[in-house]
Amino acid sequence: MADRLKAIAISEILQISASAKRRKAMGRRVFDLSVGEPDFDTPENIKRAGVAAIENGETKYTALDGDPRLKSAIRDKFARENHLGFLAEEITVSAGAKQILYNALAATLNSGDEVIVPTPFWTSYLDIVAICGGKTVCASTTENHGFLLTPEDLESAVTPRTRWLILNSPSNPSGAVYGPEQLRALGEVLIRHPHVWVLSDDIYEHIVYDGIPFASIAAVVPEIRNRTLTVNGVSKAYAMTGWRIGYAGGPSPLIRAMAVVQSQTTSCPSSVSQAAAVEALNGPQDYLRNRLLSFKARRDLLLEKLRLAPGISCRKPEGAFYAYVNCSGVIGASTPEWGAINSDADFCRYLLDNYGVAVVPGSVFGLSPYFRISYAIAEEDLRDACDLIVRAASDLRLPND
Ligand code: PLP
Repeated sequence: MADRLKAIAISEILQISASAKRRKAMGRRVFDLSVGEPDFDTPENIKRAGVAAIENGETKYTALDGDPRLKSAIRDKFARENHLGFLAEEITVSAGAKQILYNALAATLNSGDEVIVPTPFWTSYLDIVAICGGKTVCASTTENHGFLLTPEDLESAVTPRTRWLILNSPSNPSGAVYGPEQLRALGEVLIRHPHVWVLSDDIYEHIVYDGIPFASIAAVVPEIRNRTLTVNGVSKAYAMTGWRIGYAGGPSPLIRAMAVVQSQTTSCPSSVSQAAAVEALNGPQDYLRNRLLSFKARRDLLLEKLRLAPGISCRKPEGAFYAYVNCSGVIGASTPEWGAINSDADFCRYLLDNYGVAVVPGSVFGLSPYFRISYAIAEEDLRDACDLIVRAASDLRLPND
């Protein structure tokens, strides 16, 4: 195995989910709140566009980094929803936002180059940086500051070796959302450091609650537009995780360099999926609002239920379909059968082993003691799973109880 792979393992989240599936296969009742995948089906009009593409023979290689029809739909989307005007040569399409991130980092990182990633983070950022020979510099956030990176913490993370800052709003795993003021404040720091590029991962753009408007840094801070890559995709918004289409808009020299990486890895994204993505972006959008209402109902249910769990507290997430739950109050607690809970990872194991609820420990995302709940599951299941979390917390005894 190559040295660059030694520090990287198969995603811990996928391992937890696999363990939940194994328990299910053994006939046990398990609620899987570990994976970040909408439970909805891809909308009919989008599926039909995929089927039509197959029937029309659109089954061959397409242009290397995206069919012109899809690039045009993406340009319209960026203009319509984000007030960002891009030329066709400033757009790239890949097999998911994940491949976009990989292409961008593989195209730009030299050995030891630094990438600033706020904690808690989506684990893949660290692994992709590592595969590409870079070094992640974690910039801490706190629950008290809404899990948002402060300009001061950004400033102190920047060094002469910094190549990128990765921003993700709404955030996986915290559900935090950066408003225009916060983005502007980070932008002021970035303006002072012209060697730092920004990768804005907007994949959860359409899942923002309570009327909070979505903001993307390239639109809010035009001074840094010529060094920002705005990343998005159809996976989360249109329940298309399996179709594998992600896209980005950014400066053409970067887009060209990313195309070089793609040309020798996947050649082009799937032709059928690209046709479906054109329909997703150009077709009716009312679907998004209905799904948002559904996610909001689940978020509210979860917050209401978890209030009853002793030792557990949950800040209200403003977006995405994740809650980052503080479990500091159960650390040190125990049951006679299980023993002591010494970490968030222990609590998550206790929850899965004894109550059949799979969640992901904060240690995976770089900030403990927390656990992440993905509430992209049916409301009845979420209700039962939350009841079990409450029971699990209630069954624990603290040393002084
Ligand atoms: N970015 C974040 C923050 C994510 O949570 C995910 C998926 O979980 C992705 C990107 C990747 O999305 P895609 O399915 O388009 O590769």
